[in-house]
Amino acid sequence: MHAEFEISTDERVTTVDVTERVEDQVPNDADGTATVFVKHTTAGISVNEAEPRLLSDIETALEDIVPETGWEHDELDGNADAHLRSMLLGRDVTVPVVDGRLDLGTWQSILLVECDGPRTRTVTVTCE
Ligand code: ZN
Repeated sequence: MHAEFEISTDERVTTVDVTERVEDQVPNDADGTATVFVKHTTAGISVNEAEPRLLSDIETALEDIVPETGWEHDELDGNADAHLRSMLLGRDVTVPVVDGRLDLGTWQSILLVECDGPRTRTVTVTCE
């Protein structure tokens, strides 16, 4: 099974909890794994705690690790920092599925990390 959904972000760097949106795509009788994949080069996806201060810390850490300016790709479209930040996060996560539910830990959520917003992003969910 393969599905996708769109999510709109409202800031240049921001983190959105997409756990419920992902679970909505998973068939009720599914067992196995769900691969969640963001189809972009300037957004990433990860699994972590959706605590508001931590979400802010993720954004601050990415901005500290990868400076905003001074990159060669900026001569083309000015968003090298977003490409590099998204590479640190990766573009997919795999989550176990049991009886149509994501088998996440108590404090785990699926987080889309926007690195070059605001934009509308496409996320795919493949269950196997
Ligand atoms: Zn670019």
